[in-house]
Amino acid sequence: MRFLVTGGAGFIGSNFVRYLVEKYPDTEIVVLDKLTYAGRQENLADVRKKITFIKGDICREGDIKKAGACDVIFNFAAETHVDRSITGPDLFVKTDVLGTCALLNYAREHDISRYIQISTDEVYGSIRSGSFHETDILDPSSPYSASKAAAEHLAHSYFRTYDLPVITTRSSNNFGPYQYPEKLIPVLILKALSDQPLPIYGTGLNVRDWLYVGDNCTGIDAAYSRGIPGEIYNLGAGNERTNLEIAKIILSVLHKSEDLITFIQDRAGHDFRYSISSEKIRSLGWSPSHPFDEAMARTVEWYVKNSWWWKPLVLAGRS
Ligand code: NAD
Repeated sequence: MRFLVTGGAGFIGSNFVRYLVEKYPDTEIVVLDKLTYAGRQENLADVRKKITFIKGDICREGDIKKAGACDVIFNFAAETHVDRSITGPDLFVKTDVLGTCALLNYAREHDISRYIQISTDEVYGSIRSGSFHETDILDPSSPYSASKAAAEHLAHSYFRTYDLPVITTRSSNNFGPYQYPEKLIPVLILKALSDQPLPIYGTGLNVRDWLYVGDNCTGIDAAYSRGIPGEIYNLGAGNERTNLEIAKIILSVLHKSEDLITFIQDRAGHDFRYSISSEKIRSLGWSPSHPFDEAMARTVEWYVKNSWWWKPLVLAGRS
């Protein structure tokens, strides 16, 4: 058995590779990653000897071929930061849509047993009340979420047209170790650690449903091992919090003053609330196992203890 994990040097991908190494010790794991600013070899340092790492771009057929024949593909590779998609959408379309297309073409040429497309709850857009189900229409707001929606539509067209065994997961916002310090939670932790203002968009009342990355890994595994080809699975833990609440939790864990919270101009097209129902993946026997407060405290502690990981990024002005 051979797994190909694209984008495996990023935040969720590297956590997932670590999970696979433990869960499937007899399986060969190949990581294909372009190592953009968000992908780092450091993220895989502790499992490096147990995997095959290939530096390569999913948009380039020649790079994908270097991975050789694989049985299962997990496609995490993507441009992922909403703010960057607002200032430069083209790269998002290239990587997230055309890269997925190249990978799907490669999957078609091989006798793969599963192709797992990692998508996001952001494809649904915002919802004032209630929660989105997998059958709801997609209404993405940012170039990032639109490119992810296009990618999963493409993947499912390969299921219908070519019988490619595609499964998609749509997870809510993840948090945990190795998350690049441009995303909300690591930004707030690192600002708080250095007593700098914690930037909060608009009124801070935007709501996200937070999922600990370890629970996303078990959810993706559940979709892969027990899901049905052609199906889509939402993955959320029901931990809805406003951005302001997140800032206050971090400050409280670090015993810092809430005076550090600073409101800044809102993001263009900022979705107000994300909420998904995870009944379908729960029917496969999955449930999150990390209570929110405990997982947040553990995440803050990871950043406190692992300055070797983030300090070079801060010193290079990349956070
Ligand atoms: P990330 O930005 O931390 O990592 C992305 C990885 O993809 C990096 O290692 C990068 O080098 C790699 N990559 C980018 N372009 C590539 C290319 N052309 N070829 C090969 N590799 C390339 O992202 P993340 O937060 O770990 O997200 C992983 C996946 O999960 C993405 O598909 C994202 O849309 C999805 N997702 C993320 C979240 C979240 O909260 N972070 C929530 C839902 C879904």
